[in-house]
Amino acid sequence: MIQVKDLHKSFGGFKAVQGASIEIETGSITGLIGPNGAGKSTLFNVIAGVLPPTSGTVLMDGEDITGLPPHELFKKGLLRTFQLAHEFSSLTVRENLMMVPDMQAGETLWNTWFRRGRIREQEREIRKKADEVLEFLTISHVADEKAGNLSGGQKKLLELGRTMMVDAKIVFLDEVGAGVNRTLLGTIGDAIIRLNKERGYTFCVIEHDMDFIGRICDPVIVMAAGQVLAKGSAAHIMQNEDVIEAYLGT
Ligand code: ADP
Ligand code: MG
Repeated sequence: MIQVKDLHKSFGGFKAVQGASIEIETGSITGLIGPNGAGKSTLFNVIAGVLPPTSGTVLMDGEDITGLPPHELFKKGLLRTFQLAHEFSSLTVRENLMMVPDMQAGETLWNTWFRRGRIREQEREIRKKADEVLEFLTISHVADEKAGNLSGGQKKLLELGRTMMVDAKIVFLDEVGAGVNRTLLGTIGDAIIRLNKERGYTFCVIEHDMDFIGRICDPVIVMAAGQVLAKGSAAHIMQNEDVIEAYLGT
């Protein structure tokens, strides 16, 4: 589904990504691991149109999508989850989900609010969808909570939930497990597996927790110092000498 070819990204003179080439197969849950500073998030940001590449190409189903802005990629079903923006924390969990279909058109928050009161019919449908998403993620009980009051793990589930309000094809998750307790991390893993199996989502997941990666990801891509070191099953990767050295070296 995604082909990244010889991607470079520099910040000033600093080369964060240096000639990375990766492929993400349709239907996979691909893991992306590597020591801090390896360039994982930068690679994600370039693929997702958040940062322009210095050079290189990104293809989606064979189409050149290099440098397309996030809302164009959103329409193609390529989503990257973001931490909840500040202005969303005072809305309820359900309202956060209901915002997404409008936001995808590249509308501002203000326009979305402005339109909200006018489209009752559509709103009912979106609300129904939001409630289905909450049920799927097992967080129906916090539907009317302010999003800002959720625990770290519940926020991650809400971020994942936002990708379910549209017809996503591929979802990029950057450190879903950061600051999340074991139980919720398990729930997040289950949700990812179900979305993959039942809805056909392809995933690319950056995560440090190797138990989590080992449980849900195949294959796993390893990056270090801006380059791709290895790719294979989690078990395979952990026996690769270059990979072990990259981790021990930091
Ligand atoms: P990872 O996600 O693998 O930890 P990042 O992609 O965040 O790594 O960062 C890779 C390198 O690029 C790091 O050394 C980081 O400090 C640097 N970097 C990332 N973003 C920027 C930026 N906006 N400006 C300058 N340097 C950056
Ligand atoms: Mg990162």
